[in-house]
Amino acid sequence: MKSFDVVVIGAGPAGYVAAIRCAQLGLKTACAEEWVGKDGKPALGGTCLNVGCIPSKALLDASEHYHRLAAHENHGIEVGDIRLDIPAVIARKDAVVQGLTGGIAGLFRKKGVTWLQGRGTLLPGKRVRVSGGDQDEEVEAAHVILATGSVPRTIKGVDLDGERIVDSSGALEFQEVPGTFTVIGAGVIGLELGSVWNRFGSKVMLLEAMEQFLPSVDEQVAGLAIKEFREQGLDIRLGARVLSAQVKKDRVEVDYEDGKGRHQHVCDKLCVAVGRRPQTDGLAEDGVDLLLDESGYVHVNDHCETNLPGVYAVGDVVRGPMLAHKGEEEGIMVAERIAGQAGHVNYDTIPWVIYTHPEIAWVGKTERQLKAAKIPYKTGSFPVRANGRARAAHQDQGLVKVLAHAETDELLGVHIFAVSASEMIAEAVVAMEFRASAEDLARIVHAHPTLSETVHEAALAVGGRALHF
Ligand code: FAD
Ligand code: AMP
Repeated sequence: MKSFDVVVIGAGPAGYVAAIRCAQLGLKTACAEEWVGKDGKPALGGTCLNVGCIPSKALLDASEHYHRLAAHENHGIEVGDIRLDIPAVIARKDAVVQGLTGGIAGLFRKKGVTWLQGRGTLLPGKRVRVSGGDQDEEVEAAHVILATGSVPRTIKGVDLDGERIVDSSGALEFQEVPGTFTVIGAGVIGLELGSVWNRFGSKVMLLEAMEQFLPSVDEQVAGLAIKEFREQGLDIRLGARVLSAQVKKDRVEVDYEDGKGRHQHVCDKLCVAVGRRPQTDGLAEDGVDLLLDESGYVHVNDHCETNLPGVYAVGDVVRGPMLAHKGEEEGIMVAERIAGQAGHVNYDTIPWVIYTHPEIAWVGKTERQLKAAKIPYKTGSFPVRANGRARAAHQDQGLVKVLAHAETDELLGVHIFAVSASEMIAEAVVAMEFRASAEDLARIVHAHPTLSETVHEAALAVGGRALHF
C-alpha cells in the first residue's frame, strides 16, 4: 500500500492549496479528486475553477464589456452594430477554465503532489480508498485533510432538468440569451448570475424568500444596492417564497407566494440559487466516527482539526463563509501546523465580495453587529460620486463607510459599494490585520486620482474632516 505524509481529499481551492503548501514544506503529499470537466477529462480546481468563481467572472467581464458598448456610455466614442455571440462567450469562458485547471495539474507535477484521480473515502486508521477513476486503490497517510467543498442546495418542488430549470452551473452554460430569466434566491450567487444575464439582455426577476435584502450586508449599503440594481432592470421581489416550478411547453411555470397571496410566473429559464450545502455524502466509510455539526458541516475547531486525531477539514465543507480565499487560508494553516509551524487564520478579517455592478465588498463588522454586541463606534462615509476618478470613468455610484471604535479609534469594519470594491477592500483588510485606527488610514497617502481615495476620505470622515464632501 502506498504511504503518504498527507492525503488531501478534494482539489478545490482549499484542497489544492493545502496540497501544494504541504509539498512545499517537504511532506510527501497526494490529493484525491474525482471531478470530470465538461470535455470529459478529469480536472482539478473544484467548484471555484470549474463552475464557480472563475467561469462566473469570465461571463461577468464579457457581459460588462457588452453592456458598456451596448449602452453607448457617453465617452465620446461611437460604436457601430454590436453583435453578441453567446456560444463564443461560453467557449472563451471554457478556455479560461481549462487553462487554469490545467495550470493546477502543472503545479501539482512541479511541486511533487501526486494526483489520485477518483473518489476518496476516509477509512479507519487514516487510510483512504480512491475509486471510480483510473484505478481503485487504497493508500495510507499520517494526516488526512478533507476538502470536499459544497454543492448547490435544491428545494422541494423544483426539479432541475438541466435545460430550463438549472442550478448555478447550468446558468453558466446557456447557449443563447434567455428572453426571461428568473432566479430563486437573491443571495450572492443569484445576484451575480442575474446581473450577468441582465447585462446580456435578459429580463431578469429574482424571487427572494426573505423580506430583508442581503441581511449580512451593511444596511445602508444594502438599501443603496437594491435601488441601484432595480434601476439596472433587475426585478427583485422580496418576501417571495417559491413553492414549486414545472416545465410546460418549453417554458417554466413558477409558483410563489408573498404577502399578497399565491402567484404564478412564467419564464424561459429558471435558476435555483438558494445557497450551497457541504459535500459529505459518502466521505467517511460507515464505522468511521467523523463528527458533523448540526448543519451537516464537518465539525472542526479553530485550527480545522476534526474529532479524529490527524484528520483535518478545510473550506466549504466546514463552518464559516463559503469563499474560496477562506478555504485557501485554512489549507495553508493546516499544512503549516502539520509541518510543526504555527499556521493561523484570522477569521475576523476575511473580506466578502458580491460581484454585482457596482461590487459590494466588506470586512469586519456591520453597524447591526456592533449595536448587538454593544460596542461603541463612530462612522465615516464618503459618496463615490464625489471622487474625481469615478466621475472621469462615468462609474460614480456607491458609498464607502468606515466604522471605528468610539474610544480607541480602531477600525472595526469597512463597507464598500463601488466599482472595483473587490480590489479596494484589500487595503481595509491589511489595515485591520495590523489593527490600524481610522486615523492611521486617514494619514496614509493615497494616489490621486484613484478610487481608493474614497476609502481615504471615509477614514477622514470618521474624524469629521472629509475634504471633498
Ligand atoms: P470546492 O471548490 O467545492 O472543491 C471541492 C472538490 O472536492 C471538488 O472538486 C469535488 O469534486 C471534490 N470532491 C468532493 N468529494 C470528493 C471525494 N469524496 N473524493 C474526491 N474528490 C471529492 N467564492 C469566492 O471566494 N469568490 C467568488 O467570486 C465566488 N464565486 C462563485 C460563483 C459561483 C457561481 C459559485 C457556485 C461559487 C462561487 N464562490 C466564490 C464560492 C467558491 O467557489 C467556494 O467557496 C470554493 O470553491 C470552496 O472551495 P473548496 O475547496 O472548499 O471546495
Ligand atoms: P446565498 O446563500 O447568499 O446564496 O442566498 C440564497 C438565498 O436563497 C437566501 O437569501 C434565501 O433566503 C433564498 N431562498 C431559499 N429558499 C428560497 C425559496 N424557496 N424561495 C425564494 N428564495 C429562497
